[in-house]
Amino acid sequence: MGWKRTENVLAAALPRPFRVKWINLRARCAEEGVEREKMEFTLPIRVRWDVDFRGRSGRVKRIARKIAEASPLFVELHLSGARGLSELSGILAELQKAQPRVSVHLGLFPGSAEAARNGYPVDFVWDVGPAAGFLPKLPQGAAAISFVPDADNLDELPEVVAEFADSGLSALHLPNVNAVRSLAARGLVPVPEIGRLRAAAEAVAALKVSLGGKRLVAHDFFLWKSLSGAFPGATGDRLEFSGCQAGTALAYVDWEGGVYPCDSLPIRLGPLDESSLEEIWASPARGRIVEAVRAAPGACDGCGEYLGCHGGCRGMAYLSAGTFDAADPACPEEGRTRR
Ligand code: SF4
Repeated sequence: MGWKRTENVLAAALPRPFRVKWINLRARCAEEGVEREKMEFTLPIRVRWDVDFRGRSGRVKRIARKIAEASPLFVELHLSGARGLSELSGILAELQKAQPRVSVHLGLFPGSAEAARNGYPVDFVWDVGPAAGFLPKLPQGAAAISFVPDADNLDELPEVVAEFADSGLSALHLPNVNAVRSLAARGLVPVPEIGRLRAAAEAVAALKVSLGGKRLVAHDFFLWKSLSGAFPGATGDRLEFSGCQAGTALAYVDWEGGVYPCDSLPIRLGPLDESSLEEIWASPARGRIVEAVRAAPGACDGCGEYLGCHGGCRGMAYLSAGTFDAADPACPEEGRTRR
């Protein structure tokens, strides 16, 4: 058993108030990049799992068991249809053995609102899909939504933010594009380019809406940077960015149990069917990716932004150029200054 897993198991045995404090402290260390280069992860802290895809899923309970064995602190379940939904209670029964904090990310498909009425001890995040006009479709009591600002949906971002600002919702998540799912669905990844990201952020700023007391979580550094100007901290709004955690604090599991460093970095590390998550995390392939993700890309050499962005999304860089030495394609290169 690796020491990180031992730590996770010990944390699980702590009384809840201490456990929550410990989880928050460790997650903050990971997310704020404390000793980022030195932190070792023999197991991921967060596991993101696409439970189903177009009505398909692997041996769900077995995958859930393998994830629970790794004692992650956070598990994100992504359900996209009736197949995933029908497995939810079985998955939660397996996961609760490790007592992670579970969030369930659901699309607004027929029957999905039913899950929120079952009293599961999870946080629900509702994926509002490609367009605004989502409020009437959300179940009663919904608190958090997500919207993926990809090349197809980006123009909808101002409307989504305006609708969110006007609602009783407390959190809007703007995650990065899921490359593994996009590649499986259509053979390409709809990554938005910086010009369009900036235009969308400017359109959001022009709305002059207030997000007082609400939380806007933009995962992409460059989008976060653009939006942070529109929602300054003085208003009490919170925008967060965490550096690339692919293959370190974060693991992604696809609907067949394939393990990846992140859903935005489609390099398959191994199948949970044949190995444990700990074995996959100990593999040389994972070690090489971590080394590459942590290294400063050659393309960022001399850039004054690097200390803030850490090279941005390493998955998007790899996808666009086929190498980790490239810059994130969303990087506004003309803004570079010498360090
Ligand atoms: S590759 Fe890194 S920066 Fe990109 S989405 Fe994954 S964790 Fe985030």
